[in-house]
Amino acid sequence: MSSAAPAKTGFESFVGLEIHVQLSTRSKIFCGCRNRYGDEPNTNVCPVCMGLPGSLPSLNEEAMRKAHIVARALNCELAGTSMFERKNYFYPDLPKNYQISQFAKPLGTNGYVDISVGGQVKRVRIHECHLEEDAGKMIHAGDMSLVDYNRTGTPLLEIVTEPDMAVGEEAEALMHELRRIVRYLGVSDGNMDEGSMRCDANVSVNFEGKGLGRKVEIKNLNSSRFVRLGLNYEIQRQIEIIAGGGTVAQETRLWNENRDQTVVMRSKENANDYRYFPEPDLPPFRPDEAFLKSVEAGQVELPLARLQRFVSSFGINGELAAVLTEERSTADYFEEVVRSGADPGTAAAWLSGDVQKKLNKTGIKLEESPLTAARLASLLSMLASGRIHGKLAKKLLDLVFEKNEDPEKLLEAEGLEQITDDAALETLVKEIFAENAVAVEQLLGGDPKPMGFLIGQAMKKSAGRADPQALTARIRAELEARKG
Ligand code: ZN
Ligand code: MN
Repeated sequence: MSSAAPAKTGFESFVGLEIHVQLSTRSKIFCGCRNRYGDEPNTNVCPVCMGLPGSLPSLNEEAMRKAHIVARALNCELAGTSMFERKNYFYPDLPKNYQISQFAKPLGTNGYVDISVGGQVKRVRIHECHLEEDAGKMIHAGDMSLVDYNRTGTPLLEIVTEPDMAVGEEAEALMHELRRIVRYLGVSDGNMDEGSMRCDANVSVNFEGKGLGRKVEIKNLNSSRFVRLGLNYEIQRQIEIIAGGGTVAQETRLWNENRDQTVVMRSKENANDYRYFPEPDLPPFRPDEAFLKSVEAGQVELPLARLQRFVSSFGINGELAAVLTEERSTADYFEEVVRSGADPGTAAAWLSGDVQKKLNKTGIKLEESPLTAARLASLLSMLASGRIHGKLAKKLLDLVFEKNEDPEKLLEAEGLEQITDDAALETLVKEIFAENAVAVEQLLGGDPKPMGFLIGQAMKKSAGRADPQALTARIRAELEARKG
């Protein structure tokens, strides 16, 4: 299965990921507190998410729906009955001393997701998807530790893959794909910087053909770069141990981003250590027909499929298609421009080129910019029909951003329309000839050099509006007429 082999031959490496995705619901999973990142610490809390005695959880169905939407998109079998359990452990960020999670009956199992690594598509199996609550956030400041319980009870979807990846690059690609998927589905912002998506990994190495080795868990892989670096470091570390005749210890390690290495955190606990037992305060969840319908309604064409379709039906290259499908809103926008009659190749080039530059410069998002899909389509149609040329199109693009008006209106108001009209060009050329008698004499005498100069003068006089091709033809015709 490995697409890139570990650095030493004779070995095989296996990587599985556990990805936690915070679901973007209005309220928390088991109480009515606001689910929002960045608020004043400990302002979105109540007896339920603080785990006070006597308080009772009740399930937020929207969290369940969003979790199901992802599980379904990842081709999982959806459970007819899923159950919540208590996962017991003691830590200051967990005021109840247990986390409500799913163990025996997760909501989705046996799925898969396709990822693209170096242009190759690879399938990674999904072991399961389950729903749980997030813990609070510890903040370590000097010799003090603080805890913010706003995050406690944030709905968390855990996606567990099979160990189908071999190297850090594949794991990084999977994280990237899942991020795009949850954003396409509109269930999470997938922001790793803010902790909306977090990743732990299982890594093992063995002699080639011997199957899985002794598993090491790595925590704290909280950027896609760390996923790649941490895993590749760990694979190499294990290869060296085994190659040296040693045995890899089953343990949990942390990625230390300052030292670029993994370090021991603790020896690994087993599922038994968590003393899972059914959550007595929550009934099993049985999705009914209406619920399943809403899960189906939440499905969209996934980013990789959309990318492949852009390549095959619009004839644009994979790289460009990847740019266009990175965000669903951009892909939607592109398709709208094409539907309005624009040539897909031209629309793609403009979107990833001049339009993107303009967005970067102004700091505006495409979907919020004055350049609606209809406006870009109109601009590109003027370009295609020869009413404006490339330079004018760029100027018009600037004006749309500046004035928030339709290109058609701007063209008229600013007098930008290209001069293709024969009579107008003839007048222009006659004026230019009169003003540049020496250059005209040279041309008539057989010296071709001043041609460029005359074209330049005419373009200048027309404020860039003369159609360069028609203008050149007109100048040649005028010269012929004078020769004769
Ligand atoms: Zn609460
Ligand atoms: Mn978990």
